[in-house]
Amino acid sequence: MSALSAELLNAIREQFPALHQEVNCKPLVYLDNGATTQKPKAVIDALQRYYEHDNSNVHRGAHTLSDRATEHFENARKTLQRFLNAKKAEEIVWTRGTTESINLVAATWGRAFIKAGDRILVSGMEHHSNIVPWQMLCEQTGAELLPIPVLDNGELDMDAYKSLLTPQVKFVSVVHVSNALGTINPVADIIRMAHDVGAKVLVDGAQAVAHWNVDVQALDADFYAFSGHKLFGPTGIGVLYGKEALLNAMPPYQGGGEMIEHVSFSKTTYNGLPYKFEAGTPNIAGAIGLAAAVDYLHSLDRVALAAHEDALLAHANQRAAQIGGIRIIGNARHKASVFGFILEGTHPADVGTLLDQQGIAVRTGHHCAMPVMEQFKVPGTVRASFSFYNTLDEVDALFNGLEKAKLFLL
Ligand code: PLP
Repeated sequence: MSALSAELLNAIREQFPALHQEVNCKPLVYLDNGATTQKPKAVIDALQRYYEHDNSNVHRGAHTLSDRATEHFENARKTLQRFLNAKKAEEIVWTRGTTESINLVAATWGRAFIKAGDRILVSGMEHHSNIVPWQMLCEQTGAELLPIPVLDNGELDMDAYKSLLTPQVKFVSVVHVSNALGTINPVADIIRMAHDVGAKVLVDGAQAVAHWNVDVQALDADFYAFSGHKLFGPTGIGVLYGKEALLNAMPPYQGGGEMIEHVSFSKTTYNGLPYKFEAGTPNIAGAIGLAAAVDYLHSLDRVALAAHEDALLAHANQRAAQIGGIRIIGNARHKASVFGFILEGTHPADVGTLLDQQGIAVRTGHHCAMPVMEQFKVPGTVRASFSFYNTLDEVDALFNGLEKAKLFLL
């Protein structure tokens, strides 16, 4: 049973033009929302409006269009501030996405505060973008990167985490929702425990924000990172939230226009927050488009949307048990609507190709999370990731497609 009426779900789907097409002569069933989400008309319209009417550079014009672009751009920042419940708009830094947000913190906070002998913790279920920047920092500084182990059901081993939390630990960077397993990590506990030993915490929210509202103050997160394109917004725009005092203490990231206060060959001084971290012309349209996505989400009942996603996942679990031969990778008690699995005796890539031939879009492979794939001893998985615009019928289409794939492959 879905938490959304058929009428409401249809009305929602109407807002997403890309859903209404045929792929390989079959109606598209888009189940790759973990990779990127489709865009509602509100976002597409906001981008078009901006380019047709307001296109100009921000913060530097002595003319009306530039003033308008600046106003929309800075209002977008305020929208994102409210979305995350950040204290100040200055705590919202525009980036290209989660990857850049994490790299920014590793490169600047890391450069300033990490030294040889320090320890950094990430979890064993991280996306590569929350592993490699920290490895690079450790190579540069002589610090040590340690993974928090993952249990067989896909949950974090919180006892192991507790024992890893020694005074040498200066930073913990952990994913809110695993893109590979769907696990929802207890980030409030993780943060509280890290703070008890004086460590700072970054939460990779790439897979979380599309499912529910995040409150960075309630979590007491030091940093929170996500990508616009996974939140129904445009590609090439993302957010780094950071507590004001921490951002102020960090050196700039890239050098260039906008991030400076005064430049001379004798001494350059830097701009205040958030511009200190926003060198060069920003992705103005992207920020405006992302704010439109957030406004669109706020026009819906997000609790009901999340309940609908839970119903989609429950239906997938039920159908998987019925057809048999499916090994679900990631069985955490708290899971977002990410359904990663192996069809026993087949390779994920073959299954993905056969599903695509039936118009069903899933992702296959290691999902940029090789260490966790290694732990589960699989080369990769097939991942169906559901969004609120998916239907129970589409979940059925996935399993009907898998039955056909089985006949072909086994
Ligand atoms: N972190 C997680 C958990 C992700 O799922 C992803 C993308 O799949 C990323 C980080 C990287 O996001 P982006 O490629 O948008 O920077």
